[in-house]
Amino acid sequence: MPGEPQEDCLFCKIAEGHVPATIVRETKTTVAFQDINPQAPVHILVIPKAHYPNAAELATAAPELAADVLRETKEVADEQQLDSYRVVFNTGAGAGQTVFHAHAHVLGGRGMQWPPG
Ligand code: 5GP
Ligand code: ZN
Repeated sequence: MPGEPQEDCLFCKIAEGHVPATIVRETKTTVAFQDINPQAPVHILVIPKAHYPNAAELATAAPELAADVLRETKEVADEQQLDSYRVVFNTGAGAGQTVFHAHAHVLGGRGMQWPPG
């Protein structure tokens, strides 16, 4: 069933509190936590608690939840006092996705180049 927890999913385990993470924000539907391998001074991941394998499937199957995730990226940026920041949804292995539970990267605290590598 779309949205059901997946037994072998790291981010489902973090959402359930079964794997530790440094949580910075939590709502009824989302969790935001520090990335374990930060690529910027601020690097926080925002996930829906429900399991969708990537942002495309989240947006299609649960658009209100996708909006919750996007809103939380803004709340994280405000809390971190970021005036410029980047929100990234890597979608598919070819784009660098390694954890197949939808998540937004919130990156900030340094200058950034465009286009990315
Ligand atoms: P992706 O490459 O799928 O877009 O992003 C996955 C992110 O999850 C990576 O930035 C990686 O550093 C992070 N990550 C992987 N394993 C863990 C973990 O166990 N805990 C936390 N907090 N982050 C993780
Ligand atoms: Zn999951």
